[in-house]
Amino acid sequence: MCGIVGYLGEKKASDVILSGLKKLEYRGYDSCGITFFDEGNHRFVTYKDKGRVNHLVEDFDYSFFNRLGIGHTRWATHGRPNQINSHPHFSETTRFSVVHNGVIENYKELTVKYLADVHFVSETDTEVIADLIERFSQEMSVEEAIRKTLSLIEGSYALLILDTENPSVMYAAKNKSPLLIGTALEGITLASDIMALVGYATQYLPIEDKVFTVVCRQPDGSVGFRMHDILGHRIEMPLQKLDLALDEIGMGGYSHYMLKEICEQPAVVRKIVARYFEGDDFVVSPKIHQVLKKAEKIYIIAAGTSMHAGFVGRYLLENIAKKPAEVFIASEFAYNPPLLCANPAFLFISQSGETADLRTCLVKIKEMGYPSVTITNVPTSTLAREADHFMEICAGPEIAVASTKAYVGQVVILAILAHCLADRKVFDLKEELSKVAVAMEALIDKREYIHALVREKITKRNCFYIGRGLDFFTCLEAALKLKEISYIQTEGFAAAELKHGTIALIEDGVPVIAIISQKNVNNLTRANIREVLSRGANKIVISLNRLSDPSDELVLMDVHEMLSPMLTVIPTQLIAFYSALDLGRDIDKPRNLAKSVTVE
Ligand code: GLU
Repeated sequence: MCGIVGYLGEKKASDVILSGLKKLEYRGYDSCGITFFDEGNHRFVTYKDKGRVNHLVEDFDYSFFNRLGIGHTRWATHGRPNQINSHPHFSETTRFSVVHNGVIENYKELTVKYLADVHFVSETDTEVIADLIERFSQEMSVEEAIRKTLSLIEGSYALLILDTENPSVMYAAKNKSPLLIGTALEGITLASDIMALVGYATQYLPIEDKVFTVVCRQPDGSVGFRMHDILGHRIEMPLQKLDLALDEIGMGGYSHYMLKEICEQPAVVRKIVARYFEGDDFVVSPKIHQVLKKAEKIYIIAAGTSMHAGFVGRYLLENIAKKPAEVFIASEFAYNPPLLCANPAFLFISQSGETADLRTCLVKIKEMGYPSVTITNVPTSTLAREADHFMEICAGPEIAVASTKAYVGQVVILAILAHCLADRKVFDLKEELSKVAVAMEALIDKREYIHALVREKITKRNCFYIGRGLDFFTCLEAALKLKEISYIQTEGFAAAELKHGTIALIEDGVPVIAIISQKNVNNLTRANIREVLSRGANKIVISLNRLSDPSDELVLMDVHEMLSPMLTVIPTQLIAFYSALDLGRDIDKPRNLAKSVTVE
């Protein structure tokens, strides 16, 4: 959700920041802005507005010589998305400018206590930060003033701060919201996501919570940084090599990132197999194995698409590893936890590793002293770093807001985990995953046929997915995918459940898409299809070959029943993609959505 980028160095800061903001667009935002130092005229220039980064890039003047600046994409939490509420925000005299991701929970109390006489320009919680720094800097050094401000603000923040009286310094701090520092010979970049560092940094470091960072130009012109805790003590943290290449985050000839990512899924399955297969079997770290094996029950905490992967994971853990498991919506678990068993372990699933709802749970779980494992696509993320252990999904950067390959990657990881925890191997997982990848390829090759099906069948403002068992979980994910990018209201149902109420909505032409990959319920789901057909539904049946009927619209190659969700989800991703395409939607950046949901 939202993003920040700051730069101090030898390159043109506005270039680094604008290209960084473009790379962060996928995270979701509604407004953007930039402040940079125009060295020729010795002044700070700010442009900000509601709308896309392209507007920021195309409609303003960046011809000034500039080597210092901060930029922001905003996902409004306090105040409407408009020009005034866009970041950067300024202190009362405009001395300090601030960009902020996150939410300051006590900004009202701080206003009353310290800033009662200040006239606020915006409706944001952020402006209070700039004003506090200015207020305190009247009595102490700027660094002390920032640290004092940090000691007072509560909530989540990634912050970049500029002082117009000192254009060779940039300040940064974070709590809960992500922030990374990237270094190269030419300069230092700070950003909320590693994507924005690619091309500008050779080494990087994820900044820890409550660490205050000072980036400054030295007298010899080079740029360095130092880190302090809130009391001002120096902190040393080792930098890591950044080995993500620019072409890994490009569109690779596809019209949309989402289509590219859908098509990458067979390769993702093979990459995960290569990563976790050692010698003659799959291997997970001995510590993860020990923690999960010992647990009486595994509590899976997730949200959205990752929760749907969690449902599949629960099934696999119980059916392959014979390990009791339960899935919880993170935001519910955080404030309404269930009665836990005596010896639990917690599995956090998040593609970004930054989901605020999960982090709240993780903090509580750690306080209770229970073991935690995160499954994430981003090894540098907060949840990866803060859980006791983590497993990397290895799906590669996923840029489209709607998750596809990260979801499939999560399911593959969960299958590997279940396989590794099983006392008795129930099937040859490597062999079966390889069949899944082949079946995925065959299906992806047929994608134009799916486009034709969409044109013919998905013609209404609403749609239903029905399935049983594992297919039900795929229906939940399929419905979410279709609604989030096409805005067609879609619901995923356990097939028999429809007749307990919602069947009232079925009328002529309403699309009902059934998924059939589970033998034991094939006939039952087919009975449910007949029920909706006799009320006028426009059906699409997606089935595995061995369970198919000649009237089925889409027949997939056979794969192992327990792994079928990895395959059956793909036509539903393509249905969502082509529906959104034909409706002219902004597929990679659907409205109101963010890639990493960093607020609760
Ligand atoms: N809470 C701040 C605002 O509403 C920052 C939002 C963000 O993270 O972009 O402006």
